[in-house]
Amino acid sequence: MAFENLTERLQGVFKNLRGKRKVTENDVLEITKEIRVALLEADVALPVVKKFIRNIRDRAIGTEVSEALNPAQQVISIVNEELTAILGGGEAELLKSPKIPTIIMMVGLQGAGKTTFAGKLAKKLKEEQNARPLMIAADVYRPAAIDQLKTLGEQLDIPVYDEGTAESPVNIVKNGLAKAREERKDYVLIDTAGRLEIDDKLMDELRQIKALAEPTEILLVVDAMTGQVAAQVAKTFDEQLDITGVIITKLDGDTRGGAALSIREITGKPIKFTGTGEKLTDLEVFYPDRMSSRILGMGDMLTLIEKAQSQFDEEQSAKLAEKMAENRFDYSDFIEQLDQVQSMGPLDEIMKMIPGMSEIPGAANVKVDEKEIARQKAIVLSMTPAERRLEVELNPARRRRLAAGSGNSYVDVNKFIKRFNQSKEMMQGMMSGDMNAMMAGMAK
Ligand code: GDP
Repeated sequence: MAFENLTERLQGVFKNLRGKRKVTENDVLEITKEIRVALLEADVALPVVKKFIRNIRDRAIGTEVSEALNPAQQVISIVNEELTAILGGGEAELLKSPKIPTIIMMVGLQGAGKTTFAGKLAKKLKEEQNARPLMIAADVYRPAAIDQLKTLGEQLDIPVYDEGTAESPVNIVKNGLAKAREERKDYVLIDTAGRLEIDDKLMDELRQIKALAEPTEILLVVDAMTGQVAAQVAKTFDEQLDITGVIITKLDGDTRGGAALSIREITGKPIKFTGTGEKLTDLEVFYPDRMSSRILGMGDMLTLIEKAQSQFDEEQSAKLAEKMAENRFDYSDFIEQLDQVQSMGPLDEIMKMIPGMSEIPGAANVKVDEKEIARQKAIVLSMTPAERRLEVELNPARRRRLAAGSGNSYVDVNKFIKRFNQSKEMMQGMMSGDMNAMMAGMAK
């Protein structure tokens, strides 16, 4: 995940503050100097860093801190507020046109993730608003882009309008819009062409499409991995097209994150979503306060809960809860649960969203042992259906077979079964509200 180094650096800065009864002007100067270096290393644009540091100094050297009961905490809270402000303050919702269809135009350089984002957004609109979107494939210079969008459309069962590569993008958009109006679609997502770098011809074409379609949203898609370039690209696109919002993709990668921190300040346009992976579900609404909290290592429980809610099928969860309470939870349920948790994303990323995790010494380096999980899965997958349903006793002979079948040792299999039984007892205790049973399970 992006920002890892920045988080670590900032936590180092705050550590020196902790426990201080008084924060002097010198302390503030010292820590803001360190924050400045940390931000520059994270590839945040210089003017943004300067403004940020100035704001923190202005506030932290004033009465706000000297009269606070806990001055160190007050400084951290000022940094949090200023970081939230730099990121845009509040959530910027996707705009909707008062009359249908709402037209959304995707622009950006090639490879930024426009087409992928179009698919992610169409899916979101369809699932959350029951919308009936139409996607228009107007990237005629990269034939693969049209196929890519069509494949996404098939996957999502969302229609894609295209005329191959022979027609001009402006005409394709015109015809596509006519079709959308005719079919009373409520959203139109236009996937436009990108170039490897900004050029006049591209901008000219985008301006023509804009003039024709009069979109409610012009969303610029930028790749977080490109760092300062992303901020520069955003500035140019905004000057040329007056964009309405920014999407930052590939925040899952190992980027320093500076783009996300610079773009709002440089363009004045809000970040609306972030892309956090290649899958169609890897889209997050951008909340400046949550992002700030995550960057400062304070966790992001809200996003975690939302992720869990969107991944877990309610009916399935209710069934599972019932099984837990009645002690019918079996090995098949176990696998199902593992799969659900894993579908939320890499486990060590999820761990980082838990507040305080990053402050536990060494926790940043803890790698969730995905191998151990794979091992447990292999054991269950080697079981017969009857074994998975707990209908037969897993005697030593069966355990030996499971060990051989899953490529584990006999001892590993025993350990796993013991752990499964313990957690089952705990779950039952939890679900039935019987704390004693739960403690008993834990103590074993
Ligand atoms: P376009 O040229 O702007 O339409 O870009 P594409 O949508 O084709 O994306 C380019 C590449 O980036 C593809 O391989 C995508 O799978 C990948 N990609 C897009 N968004 C994300 C993201 O949020 N995270 C990661 N890791 N990859 C992404």
